[in-house]
Amino acid sequence: MKQILVTGGAGFIGSHLCARLLDEGHCVICLDNFFTGSKRNILHLIPNPRFEVVRHDVTFPYYAEVDEIYNLACPASPIHYQHDPIQTTKTSVMGAINMLGMAKRIGAKVLQASTSEVYGDPIVHPQVESYWGNVNPIGIRSCYDEGKRVAETLFMDYHRQWDIEIKIIRIFNTYGPNMHPHDGRVVSNFIVQALNNEPITLYGDGSQTRSFQYVDDLVEAMIRMMNTDKQVTGPINIGNPNEFTIKELAEKVIAMTGSTSTLTYKPLPNDDPKQRQPNISKAKATLNWEPTIQLEEGLKRTIAYFKSLQ
Ligand code: NAD
Ligand code: UDP
Repeated sequence: MKQILVTGGAGFIGSHLCARLLDEGHCVICLDNFFTGSKRNILHLIPNPRFEVVRHDVTFPYYAEVDEIYNLACPASPIHYQHDPIQTTKTSVMGAINMLGMAKRIGAKVLQASTSEVYGDPIVHPQVESYWGNVNPIGIRSCYDEGKRVAETLFMDYHRQWDIEIKIIRIFNTYGPNMHPHDGRVVSNFIVQALNNEPITLYGDGSQTRSFQYVDDLVEAMIRMMNTDKQVTGPINIGNPNEFTIKELAEKVIAMTGSTSTLTYKPLPNDDPKQRQPNISKAKATLNWEPTIQLEEGLKRTIAYFKSLQ
């Protein structure tokens, strides 16, 4: 039985990770400031005596004795991370420093939930880990993208300078139950709009692409990554390489919900990446992992979740 800290544990991905780690018999501390996370996501875990919830902001130091740290704290949806961009950068940068400092003191392993956003609006397609990216340092997405890039730098420097055992994964668009219905991300927006028979909001002409990964596949990869040998630091891409245009996603959601929604076009936000698809050769070779749940099945489960909220 391991003692495990999950920062951002009340969020969409964090809540699934906490549940899975408890299922495996570990003790889990879920640390969250509840900016975008919700107690509802972890309510079913609270009766478990091996589960503890701590309200805390990772920009301030935290002390605990644990074996492993999964560092997920950071708003992930553009609406939320742009709401207080300075706090977003602080969360990634100070959060990384505080978690790495703790890992150094107690000799814990620490995994960073990085992102495909480190590739910005990528020119290399599909994205490989060796690609350095195409990121605007002064745009409206920069607080998130650059914060996550600095976090990766800090992880690598703590590893080189202090021999901390680190793991970096670059997560590509992930969806599933426990996404906040109003967090503005595309999958939750489209499903909620379709279930309410409201117009589906396509930003731009809907020809931009994303590759969508179901959350259970991601959680499996996170745990496999944490369990790798010390020399495996990453970064490793974790995503589903099946790429769709946003318009294709909208049409799929309408068909699967039997909705009468129509498509409506809104301006494309600044710096919105035109294409995104992970090359997952490294994940396959290192973690013996690849996604098992494809879009149709994942959407079915996610639609059922949003229906249950209505
Ligand atoms: P989320 O917004 O649902 O979860 C983030 C959690 O972090 C929330 O519970 C929030 O309250 C908490 N948090 C935010 N700032 C904090 C702070 N200063 N101190 C403590 N807690 C704080 O988002 P998510 O989709 O679950 O993302 C989790 C992690 O995975 C994030 O780091 C995100 O960057 C990364 N990621 C997610 C995706 C995706 O598609 N969902 C893709 C790439 C990377
Ligand atoms: N998007 C859209 N309509 C929406 C929400 C998002 O067309 O209601 C588009 C958005 O412009 C982007 C893609 O869907 O091109 C994915 O957006 P999301 O915010 O989910 O993730 P990210 O841009 O960070 O990949």
